[in-house]
Amino acid sequence: MIGVVAVSHSARLGEAALELALQMVPGGGAQVRVAAGAGTDADGAAVLGTDAVAVAAAIDELAVDCEGVLVLMDLGSAVLSAELALDLRSSEVPVRLAPAPFVEGLLSAVVSAAGGAGLDAVAQEAAGALAAKAGQLSEAEPPPEVAQSASDPDALTRTVRVRNPLGIHARPAALIAETAAGTDVRLRRLPDGPEASAASLSRLLVLGARQGDELELSASGPGAAAILDRLSALFDEGFGEGTEPASVRSVPITEPTTEGSDDAAALPTSPLAAGALLRGRGVSAGAAAAPVVRVAPALTEPDPAVRIAPEERDAEVSAIEWASVAVADQLRRRTEAATGEAKAILDASRLLASDPELVSDATALVRAKGLSGTRAVWEVGAAHAARLSTLGGRMAERVADVLDVRDRIIAELLEVEMPGVPEREEPFVLVARDLAPADTAALEGGQCVALVTEDGGPTSHTAIIARALGLPAVVGVEGAARIPAGATVLVDGDRGTVQLDPSPAAVERVRAGSEVVAFDGAGVLADRHAVPLLANVGGAADAETAAAAGAEGVGLFRTEFCFLDRVDAPDVAEQVAAYRAVLAPFAGHRVVVRTLDAGSDKPLPFTHPEPEENPALGVRGLRLARRASQLLDDQLRAVAEAAEAESARVEVMAPMVATIEEAQAFVERCRAAGLTRAGIMVETPSAALLASELFDVVDFVSIGTNDLAQYTMAADRLLGALGDLNDPWQPAVLRLIGAVGDAGRASGKPVGVCGEAAGDPALAPVLVGLGASSLSMTSRALGRVGAALRRVTTEQCHRAADAARSSSSAEEAREAARAVVDA
Ligand code: PEP
Ligand code: MG
Repeated sequence: MIGVVAVSHSARLGEAALELALQMVPGGGAQVRVAAGAGTDADGAAVLGTDAVAVAAAIDELAVDCEGVLVLMDLGSAVLSAELALDLRSSEVPVRLAPAPFVEGLLSAVVSAAGGAGLDAVAQEAAGALAAKAGQLSEAEPPPEVAQSASDPDALTRTVRVRNPLGIHARPAALIAETAAGTDVRLRRLPDGPEASAASLSRLLVLGARQGDELELSASGPGAAAILDRLSALFDEGFGEGTEPASVRSVPITEPTTEGSDDAAALPTSPLAAGALLRGRGVSAGAAAAPVVRVAPALTEPDPAVRIAPEERDAEVSAIEWASVAVADQLRRRTEAATGEAKAILDASRLLASDPELVSDATALVRAKGLSGTRAVWEVGAAHAARLSTLGGRMAERVADVLDVRDRIIAELLEVEMPGVPEREEPFVLVARDLAPADTAALEGGQCVALVTEDGGPTSHTAIIARALGLPAVVGVEGAARIPAGATVLVDGDRGTVQLDPSPAAVERVRAGSEVVAFDGAGVLADRHAVPLLANVGGAADAETAAAAGAEGVGLFRTEFCFLDRVDAPDVAEQVAAYRAVLAPFAGHRVVVRTLDAGSDKPLPFTHPEPEENPALGVRGLRLARRASQLLDDQLRAVAEAAEAESARVEVMAPMVATIEEAQAFVERCRAAGLTRAGIMVETPSAALLASELFDVVDFVSIGTNDLAQYTMAADRLLGALGDLNDPWQPAVLRLIGAVGDAGRASGKPVGVCGEAAGDPALAPVLVGLGASSLSMTSRALGRVGAALRRVTTEQCHRAADAARSSSSAEEAREAARAVVDA
């Protein structure tokens, strides 16, 4: 690994350039230090300048882990300081001073170093970093070194089309370079354009590839086909930036109005009728009922007619600079307090707040046109948001982040209260048009019990954070703006419904259901028969919560939840880190890791470049391995490495298995990866009916009642309107579960249940009677299920199961089981 030192006169310039460069390597792996500024004066103000001792210290620090160091400098005395630092340093590694442009060179060097290039190559990358800009701004031919080179006759080739609207700009180029790190992939613009090494950010930019252009990818040697597959997938999915022409995909931006709150302005004259049922998309499970609170009013649009006198513009500019620093600081403090995904999202907002482009564009407007600071920030924020919006897809989902940061800076300039989540003493349901990441992250530890938004999709920040915080959430609710503040609503995140003025009985049911009952750490029936109670988790934060709640292990680790926000596949090292964080709290306990169950209700951009007509019946779960087999092998390798490094008892299972061949192939791949215990989820009727044969192949099964109900009843689990069909109490579903339980008993192998049904205290005894040997559920349900099981014997469980499965309706099954359990 080559380290990079950035030497600048200005600490802020150095940090900002570093932030920009690190955004090019989201997978990490770069070793960079900034040696910038000359300390502070007596008043604590930053002094511009460079310090050779600091540069030498940065080199020495990197020398511990790096085999070479490249130093980039901004200007003048930075070069002198860097030269002097070569004499002052105590380490021996080779150091090269780069005659390269500071910002572009830093970006190129960081990407190249993160890709594992040697010192010469990294230095060359940095030095050539201006070529893209030079090519773009002149009519000149591309520099000779990027002209087409002779191709290797043995190389594998693929032709790909650039599909994202902005072509190969810095971010896609960085993704290509990161994906191709350590390989010799080359790209050539067809028919006779320039050629570039995939490892070179600057060369990739010089390709000048735009939407619609075709490129030839070529690679040779072992792994060539796999790497070309991964790169082709990146092109196909438009690098996560959308794949259609920008003009047909622009989406409207949610703009605060000129008169107070966007929510307030959206309130219609006709409020909803009492008892109205609104539907949206349930993105975080559970139910809660409480009065509605709306987000604090947004800001009034600053007056565009105000003009600042020329002699006052400097002060206005520095006010913007200070406000952006203050907002970045506030977000940094909140980031420190946050955990998990909330932390990552807040961090991203903090980067936005200190985005040098946002600040410099706004200050330019003040200087050139005399706009007020607030107006300039307003306009620049809107322009940045519009650009993201035009990109569509996941980029458009970040519009709320940009507008949030813009409003925070303006509120800081105006010295008024920040817009955002209100604080309350009593539980409330937060209703908004959309939530900004800072809003959602502020919910942690507060009184908010559920979220409802008018906008937002399943991968929006609202959805991700709601899941991380365990708050029921429904997004995309048409009519949410018409729910009056203060009205009580019942939010059902499973069904995707919001009920206005629910009946007292319904509220009571929900309240009783959401009350957390402590679990004593052992699932056991009244006759001491053990039924281990395990937790369903989606990442490290969940795992810690589950361990603290006394879970006896993890029965379902939904690995796709670790990567919902990713546009590119996580590499093995990143996966190992994510999995280890889940295994660590369960040393000595069983942890069942499920391989990626992407698709349908859990789309992952890097697995599903094209939308499917019917995703619930599409290429989801294990079926992904049909077209991306490396993805599965990489994941199994990562699980094996994580298992090796931790002391949890790791088992692996595949989702969406329908045939014996699929199970067989999966088990073989697990064994090849060194994983000794391999199982499958039973969530298709086919798998349930083939259970006996499947037990000849696998070590265990876990029944996914959510999907098993969906596929048995042919009722989309996301459709609130079909909730009555999508019910694990349906006799057909119970009979299939019973068939799996019988096959499990006959084979002597474990049968877990990990769908939501396992967390229903009324259903748990029935599942045990049907043959479940362990139950896995959300941590919050452990105590109530544990208490329910302690009240029944094995014999009662069998009778309840028989009574339920021979019923003729879901309602009858509930009643029949209750009669046995309560007897
Ligand atoms: C299920 O289908 O029951 C299950 C546990 O898997 P998921 O909910 O993640 O599809
Ligand atoms: Mg499932």
